Amino acid sequence: MEFIYTALPGRVRFGAGKAAGHLAAELDALGLERVLLIASEAERELAERLTVQVAGRIAGVFHNVHPHVPVAVAEAARAQAAEVGADGLLSIGGGSTTGTAKIVALTTGLPIVAVPTTYAGSEMTPVWGLTTDARKETGIDRRVLPTVVVYDADLTRTLPLELAIASGFNALAHCVEAFWGPGANPVTSLHAAAGIRALAEGMRGVHGANPADSDYDSLLYGAYLAGSSFAVAGSGLHHKICHALGGAFDLPHAQTHAVVLPHVLAFNAPALDAAESRALAEAFGAEDAVAGLRALAAELGSPADLVSVGLRAEQLPEAIAVVSAKLPIPNPRPVSADAIADILSAAAGAGERS
Ligand code: NAD
Repeated sequence: MEFIYTALPGRVRFGAGKAAGHLAAELDALGLERVLLIASEAERELAERLTVQVAGRIAGVFHNVHPHVPVAVAEAARAQAAEVGADGLLSIGGGSTTGTAKIVALTTGLPIVAVPTTYAGSEMTPVWGLTTDARKETGIDRRVLPTVVVYDADLTRTLPLELAIASGFNALAHCVEAFWGPGANPVTSLHAAAGIRALAEGMRGVHGANPADSDYDSLLYGAYLAGSSFAVAGSGLHHKICHALGGAFDLPHAQTHAVVLPHVLAFNAPALDAAESRALAEAFGAEDAVAGLRALAAELGSPADLVSVGLRAEQLPEAIAVVSAKLPIPNPRPVSADAIADILSAAAGAGERS
């Protein structure tokens, strides 16, 4: 056996119903006194509630969060951090909010305390994203990796079911791609397989008639395992496709992942070695990983095609061009422009090209 595993630094603290106390203790431990709080308008009330105990440490609040971090938003957040003399960043919200904190940290080096409210997993990764003129650029920099992550499953209870499932599939995509990302290794595969089990269990639970506390815990724990395994394994074909589509067409991030994942897994499945295929299938509790993922998606009513999440059928050629522009893409099965066209045509709902 020969492999490299570069563990990433960072502290995570789990506790359902405990975010307010935990984030106060963590700000204290870090000695942060002038924090810029980042939360979208929709997350404002929650953020205010969670920061009552630390109100004296909040030097400013940035609410102008937008999906995929447009460059104007990044500049405004950076300007506000400088204006208030921030010594740290506190993000409370989904991946768009975490992403806004990251883009400020990228140029300022300010530490981030992240309180995620979705299953996107961005809080575990050193990956930043920035969108300029409808093109999303991503990069890797340790400065954007949050110093502390406060996980509280109760905060995710308010996610509408459809968004909770889509976000769960976003996390599932991190796990699946962690099996073949450029930095994949036995440790990331172990975390990813555990993540798939926890996510599937949690999603089935919250989709059911009487979700239990343990279902939300499972989902958030799975999201953490997903983010942390993906953070080390790195981005492959699936994430390249979703980032390119998200930036170009402003598609909803989580739903786009949910639609694209089965198509990329089906494309890559023949290139996986027998042990990887078995581990993936077992994680899905199925004979075959592709069948297991498709069955889970059907059971949970996950969106079926890109058109239903906002891509217009006539945008398909542009979508293929935008993703093909990312070639070469590291992937276990070599990817050509034709393969991208096939995957996207199938994902769009237009069927396989002949
Ligand atoms: P999001 O942050 O845009 O949130 C989606 C919607 O859900 C928003 O309207 C938000 O206000 C709302 N919301 C968030 N938490 C809620 C809650 N608990 N209850 C009710 N509503 C809630 O979407 P997302 O899927 O969390 O994140 C997507 C973004 O994160 C994308 O820009 C994506 O590129 C980025 N991302 C980055 C990484 C990375 O490693 N850099 C990983 C995953 C996602």
